[in-house]
Amino acid sequence: MNTGRIVILDDEPDVAQTVALVVGSVGLEPVITPTASAFFEEIDRRMPEFIALDMVMPDMDGVEVMRRLAERECSAQIIVISGLGGRVLGAAERSALEHGLNIIGAVPKPFSSLELRKLIIGARPNAPAASAPFPTSEPMVSERQLMLALESDQFRLAYQPKVHCGHGRLAGFEALLRWHHPEHGVIMPDRFIPRAERLGLMDLITREVLQQGLAWFSNHFKACRPCYGAGEGEAADASRPTLSFNLSAKNLHDIDFADTLQDLCRHHAIDCDQVILELTETSAMDDPVTSLDLMTRLRMKGFQLSLDDFGTGYSSMAQLVRLPFSEIKVDKTFVMSANRSRESRTAIHSIVELGHNLDMRATAEGVEELATLEFLREVGCDLAQGYYIARPMYGDDALAWCRAHAGSSDPTDSDAT
Ligand code: C2E
Ligand code: CA
Ligand code: CA
Repeated sequence: MNTGRIVILDDEPDVAQTVALVVGSVGLEPVITPTASAFFEEIDRRMPEFIALDMVMPDMDGVEVMRRLAERECSAQIIVISGLGGRVLGAAERSALEHGLNIIGAVPKPFSSLELRKLIIGARPNAPAASAPFPTSEPMVSERQLMLALESDQFRLAYQPKVHCGHGRLAGFEALLRWHHPEHGVIMPDRFIPRAERLGLMDLITREVLQQGLAWFSNHFKACRPCYGAGEGEAADASRPTLSFNLSAKNLHDIDFADTLQDLCRHHAIDCDQVILELTETSAMDDPVTSLDLMTRLRMKGFQLSLDDFGTGYSSMAQLVRLPFSEIKVDKTFVMSANRSRESRTAIHSIVELGHNLDMRATAEGVEELATLEFLREVGCDLAQGYYIARPMYGDDALAWCRAHAGSSDPTDSDAT
């Protein structure tokens, strides 16, 4: 991948020039292409870090462009720029995400330069190390590389805080995996977890994640507990911080998983109800019978279960009601677009209500702006997570954030960058 470069596809020269100026001001090198054929030539030649895409072109429509990008397993961060209405733009954005493309946002025309700048600046810190980018396609990762990573402690956890929407106090953290590759720098989980799943390595990787996360939580976090003591009139339990882990569908095939996890918690002197296991609807439905057994066992031992990325899958209400979840996480694509999309706000509101009606706590992830947090408070969402509050941080930084945050727990005071 060519870091620092952006290929712009737009047939309107004025718009293309303006985009080029804006992206140039944040340090990207723009290449303008007025036709789809010129665009694909540049993509194949330069493998850019970013793409800015006009959805309506005379020679090829944006949906077809995205389909072809998906065929090329394009890993560039894509910004959709278009004069189409919000609903159509939203649908195009979702279809691209389903093709596995990395859409970081849609900017309506006439577009605001500020919005475009914010998208790019926001996307860059999350990108793999600029100096030695990892090869674009995920199948490059071999079983030997992953085993070596496990053996030589190349996997590290970042922790992203979750706060109460109302009073802003810390609710817990989500543990997110990073691979510190000696040559390629930091590799994000979407780049290697699907491969590890196919290679049957998720049990080993999850074990490593649980061990590291529980050790951190137990060693450092318990010492901080008094900072998060219950507020007046609040149940003590409600204020105990939690630690969330992501599980893959493959973890649910191991029926002993509940016992293994309980043993690990005992070893680290952590109560099971402080641990939340996040599952997507697709992973929970992969093998519904085994999943239901395992999920029931986990709940019986006191673990909490969270339904991750809600709104992106195809679960029917019947399936949802059947599974014993304690939390519902509104998918970040709705949350990130809440301020510019009425449809997203409606979806968030409905998901929060659905969760509450099923006795689940609602968490919104992908909160990037104060206005979104205020909207979440209005609709009664319980917890919030996102860059506006804090980015995922390694252990020591997460603890430092906690100490600073304990002094100013109103999220509207957030100084997150
Ligand atoms: P996820 O569970 O949906 O995790 C949330 C992702 O959203 C994280 O990306 C996080 O950094 C990002 N995020 C959080 N707040 C914001 C925000 O305000 N704006 C934006 N644009 N993004 C935000 P990350 O760390 O790259 O993780 C990607 C996915 O990898 C996770 O999605 C999860 O499905 C998977 N994953 C991460 N760690 C593990 C793990 O230990 N085991 C398994 N099985 N999967 C993992
Ligand atoms: Ca998650
Ligand atoms: Ca999620």
